[in-house]
Formats: sequence, C-alpha cells, structure tokens
Amino acid sequence: MAHHPQCFPVDNPTGSFWQAEEHVLSHHRSTEELLPHSDIVIIGAGYAGVGTAYHLAQEADDRIGSITILEARAACSGATGRNGGHLRPDLYGHIPTYIGRAGSRAGAEIAEFEIAHIRALKKFIEEEKIDCDLTVSRSIDVWCNEEAAKKAKEVYDFMVAKGFEYMDDVIFYTGENVEGVSTHYNGQNYQTNLYQICGVKGAIACASFTAATMWPYKFVMHLLQKLVAGNRINLQTQTPVNSIETDPTGGFLVQTPRGQIHTYKVIHANNAYVSGLLPEYNRNIVPCKGICCRITVPEGVKPPLLNNSYIHRTDDNTLSYLIPRADGSIVVGGAAAKFKSFKEQWYNNVDDSILIDAAKNYYDGYMQRTFNGWENTGAKVDSIWSGVMGYSYDSNPHIGHIPRKDNQFIIAGFNGHGMPVIWLAARELARMISHGIPFEDTTMPGLFKTSQFRIDRAMNGREEDGDILSTGKFLATKP
Ligand SMILES: Cc1cc2nc3c(=O)[nH]c(=O)nc-3n(C[C@H](O)[C@H](O)[C@H](O)COP(=O)(O)OP(=O)(O)OC[C@H]3O[C@@H](n4cnc5c(N)ncnc54)[C@H](O)[C@@H]3O)c2cc1C
Repeated sequence: MAHHPQCFPVDNPTGSFWQAEEHVLSHHRSTEELLPHSDIVIIGAGYAGVGTAYHLAQEADDRIGSITILEARAACSGATGRNGGHLRPDLYGHIPTYIGRAGSRAGAEIAEFEIAHIRALKKFIEEEKIDCDLTVSRSIDVWCNEEAAKKAKEVYDFMVAKGFEYMDDVIFYTGENVEGVSTHYNGQNYQTNLYQICGVKGAIACASFTAATMWPYKFVMHLLQKLVAGNRINLQTQTPVNSIETDPTGGFLVQTPRGQIHTYKVIHANNAYVSGLLPEYNRNIVPCKGICCRITVPEGVKPPLLNNSYIHRTDDNTLSYLIPRADGSIVVGGAAAKFKSFKEQWYNNVDDSILIDAAKNYYDGYMQRTFNGWENTGAKVDSIWSGVMGYSYDSNPHIGHIPRKDNQFIIAGFNGHGMPVIWLAARELARMISHGIPFEDTTMPGLFKTSQFRIDRAMNGREEDGDILSTGKFLATKP
C-alpha cells in the first residue's frame, strides 16, 4: 500500500513538561521480538490506542483474543503526552456549525457526548485510584474584543433559545464586573473591589461552565501499566508501522522495520498520522502543529489564585487555553492567530522536534499582561514544546469501520480536542469490534462516523473549503 511520505512521527520530539519524568514503560517491549501473530493490532499508543485496548481487554478473552500495540516512538509521546490538559466539552463553540449542517439533535448530541466525559472519567479515575491530578471546576471563556464579545453573546442566546437542557450549566456575563476589578470613589477615597469573575485585563464578556483538568500522560500510562501487568496486551514501542498488506491466505501483514505481524483486525489510532498508512484520509485528517508551555513563578511568590481553567481571547482575538495546576504552575497554549499566516510552520507539518517560530515567544510575560495581580510575580516560561494534532475537513473525528477495508477500523482526527471525546469513543469502538455491532447501535454522535461520503467530500473538495483553512476551526480551537 502506498503511503504519504511526510506523515510519520519524527523521532526527536521537543520535551514536554508532562513527560519530563519518564514512565518505566516509555520504551517497553513486552517481547524481544514481534509475535508472528496477534488477533488485533492497534497502531499508536496514545489516548485513543490505549483507551481502545483498555476497553477491548474488558471484554471476555475468548471474544477478543490477543492484542498488540505498535507505537512508532515512546509510549504516549504524541499529542496526548504534549497537550494542554484541558478536559473541556464544547457546549456552544462549534455546536451551532453542526446544527447548521445536520440539525439540532446532531449538534446537541456532540455536546452531550462530550459533557458525559467529565462524570465518566471522574468516576473511573476515582474507582481506579489513578494519580493524574484530576480537578473538576469551571472553565471560563473570556472575550476582550468588543465585536467578538457581541457575537459570543448572540451564539449563547441562540443556544439557550434552542432549549438544550445542558445549557443550564452555562452562565454568561457582560458589563462592568466581568474583568473582576472595579474601582469606585466613595466620597473620600477610591475603593477597588475584586469580583473574581474572570480576573482578565480588558475582559468585555465571559461565560463559564463545568469542565475538568488532568495530566493525560499519567492517565494513559496508568492504563498501559495495567494492561501490561495483566498480560492483556503485547506493547512494542519504537516500532513504526510502515505499511499494511493483505495476506493472500487471510488477514493482514503489518510491516515494521523490525519485521511483520500477521493479524485479523487493524485499529488505526495514530491520529494526525493516519494518512501515512491510509492515503484516502489525506485531505480528511491533516497534521497541524500546536504550541504549549508551562509557566512557573519563583519560589516563595504567591500569585493570585486561579481556581478555574480558561479560554482567553485577546483584543486581537488571539486564543489561548489555560489550566492552573495545584503546584502553582500554569499550562497554557494556543496562539494560532500569531502563526496562521506562516502556513508552512504548522499546516500539514509533523515536525514536533522544533517549536513554531512565529509563536515561540508569545508566552513570555503572558501572565503579567493577562491577569490582574500577576504583574510583579516574576512568572516565566519554564518549559515549552510543540505537538501535532489531527485536524479534519469537517471538524469531526473519524471513527468506525474504514469504508472498503474490511476488518480495519479508525479512531482519529480529534481536532486538538480529544480529551472530552476519546474515552467514550474508544469504549464504543471496542463494543463495535467485540460485539460486531454497527456504529448506529453505539452511543457515539452520528457525525463522528467515518464514511465514504466524508472521504470523497474532502478528497474531491478544495483544500481551502475545508474547515481547517476556511471557517477558522483551527484558529478558534477550543480544547
Ligand atoms: C499542543 C497541544 C495541545 C493540546 N491541548 C489539548 C487540550 O488542552 N484539550 C484537549 O482536549 N485536547 C488537546 N489537544 C489534543 C489532544 O492531545 C489529542 O486530541 C489527543 O491526545 C489525541 O490522542 P490520540 O491517541 O488520537 O493521538 P496521539 O496521542 O498523537 O497518539 C498517536 C500515536 O500514534 C503514533 N504513531 C503515529 N504513526 C504511527 C505509525 N505509523 N506506527 C506506529 N505508531 C504511530 C504516534 O507516535 C503517537 O504516539 C492538544 C494537542 C496538542 C498537540
């Protein structure tokens, strides 16, 4: 099978804060050599690949058989090991677009599916006692541009008017208290009140709803450890899949530089890189680079507490996603507006060994210029990294049976927004595979189903007409 030569992971990615302490399984190989046969082969050891393996392993062994995960680099070294840690469902950001395309229910079911992740993950993490810094709090959406704030309010009103029950969780603020600081003269002196709505300088409007934050690398490595310890999978790191051939005697031969594995079923969980092995997804899932960093304050300094996560849009509409961490540090990323015009630096680019030049200094002084009370904290970027996301032509992931490829499945294309999507999608894909049920019998939103129609639309359409380059989905990325 021919492949897209650019669409494979580079072997020396920038180091992210999340992976600074390497997990013992980072370079693990369950067996010295690849097994000659495995009933299922999963490509990619990120959230999607490991999540699917975990859910498959929950099924009875006689139903599932043996599972091998092949990972090109270290375990969980892709987007999952280098993201923003923001588990934030989309309640209204892109939902109106989906409503416009496919009707109210099609849009709402995406929001509902994403929202369900918070409780499902909280319950699972508590039951399994997974040490991954999970917090559940409010996420605050902030607009500092007058026009953008007005539009946001219109979208909010539109969504409320739709009567979706989940919108009850959203509160939208406009007016003078939004920024969180107001000064008034009481006849003798000026008094400053901290309202703590958002604390962002120049904020014109803000909204908040329930969201969560976590350490995705620790979460995924915990699952992996459990699978490996229980002998439920054969993990092979530093083993890129080069091609998949049909075996004339049945099944597939999965080719790697370390030899081949025979299998009956292949699951493509290599997100941004899927078109490397599946050229039909070339236009559908495009690797796009992002940038993210960790900001710390010098020891002994106590900056104002941030107990919510944020999406912050500046007056020039540069968007950042931000989470505060219990250790007092901040993880923040985005800044796409700063590099969008340098297309070669981010679009169709898998090189996460270098930062994005046009944005690499954007977070210097970010906390000081953004949040009230942070001016003299000495906050500075402590580590900065880049990562590769899989953006899709229509902003929805591709999940399910690969058209015209029996026994091959895909779970990819998460548009920089996989944290509130992958866990339950992986569970449902595992049910499809183990019980042989169709996509329609799962709880997944209909728009997530991969199909020949979606493949053709992107392959025959103009690149410029896809969401990545046209509607600004990439630029407006909300994790
Ligand atoms: C900078 C950045 C910030 C982000 N912030 C957030 C956020 O705050 N919230 C949010 O919801 N989402 C965020 N995302 C997106 C989120 O990280 C992804 O949606 C999610 O991690 C995707 O998981 P995955 O398993 O599909 O992909 P990945 O984690 O990328 O895993 C795919 C794996 O496949 C491997 N692979 C690729 N090709 C091959 C091959 N040929 N053979 C073998 N292995 C292969 C890769 O090495 C990789 O390990 C961010 C992403 C980035 C890059």
